[in-house]
Amino acid sequence: MRMSLASAAAALVVLGAAAAAQQLQPLAPPPNFDAVQIKTADLGNRTYMLEGEGGNITVAVTDGGVIMVDSQFAPLHDKIKAAIAALTPQPIRYLIITHFHRDHTGGNEAFGKDGATIVAHENVKSRLASGSRNGLTGNVVPPAPAIALPKQTFTDEVIIRLQGRAAAVRHIPAVHTDGDAYVYFADANVLATGDIVTFGRYPNIDFVYGGSIDGMIRGVDILLQAANDATRIVPGHGPVGTKAMVRDYRAMLVTARDRVQALISAGKTEDEAVAAKPNADYDAKFGVDARATGNFVRVVYRSLKK
Ligand SMILES: [Zn+2]
Repeated sequence: MRMSLASAAAALVVLGAAAAAQQLQPLAPPPNFDAVQIKTADLGNRTYMLEGEGGNITVAVTDGGVIMVDSQFAPLHDKIKAAIAALTPQPIRYLIITHFHRDHTGGNEAFGKDGATIVAHENVKSRLASGSRNGLTGNVVPPAPAIALPKQTFTDEVIIRLQGRAAAVRHIPAVHTDGDAYVYFADANVLATGDIVTFGRYPNIDFVYGGSIDGMIRGVDILLQAANDATRIVPGHGPVGTKAMVRDYRAMLVTARDRVQALISAGKTEDEAVAAKPNADYDAKFGVDARATGNFVRVVYRSLKK
């Protein structure tokens, strides 16, 4: 009797592990960093967006140094530094981080060594210090070294001031992760959203670390209030945009949420929901591959199921 109970328990553990393993999705192919070029867009008033590989970077230049938002992947540090040096000889004084994901924080270590003060929500520091695991792929990011961790943390908001310029950094709880912040440069009317907003592609939603589809919609509503019709929006990924584009993006999120919820209510499994291609119209509009379209359904499904 004891034996059969024990083996039944062992069988359950194996089944559980198999079910968890089945849900893992393949990793995206690694970017070819050697081929990446950093493109600089002038947003006016000595404020710029830098696009390379990974999350967009915002740069605000002053006569006493540079305020930078997000740091992309580690191997791009030298190229990003060169792109900023083409704008100003001033050093990078502050590196503000919108959330802990590696495509936005990979450069922290090198920019930290260069002398930048890293600023982020306290949960970003915790995630970077402990390391993290991707809920869809199982990919593990190891703990970051001390120099890559935020030196200055906040809970609700902080204003970084440098030579008459100001970056207003505000936290929104439980949106894309549990440590998201957006950054507003009022003198340039530029709003850096981090991954709360992406243009031309689906967002990721980190359902393991506090993100959810309903949180994303709530976060976008806060950004819509922070922006006006003339605001230049620097999204987490994709081109510079406008408040009208953020409204369209919000409509997409709501539509996708309702479609996936209808599939859940009809008793569909996650794989069945993916196979149903509920967002075929947006898939075509974005022109993204099956992996990206499937993963978006999965993160919406899992955040609604939670
Ligand atoms: Zn992200």
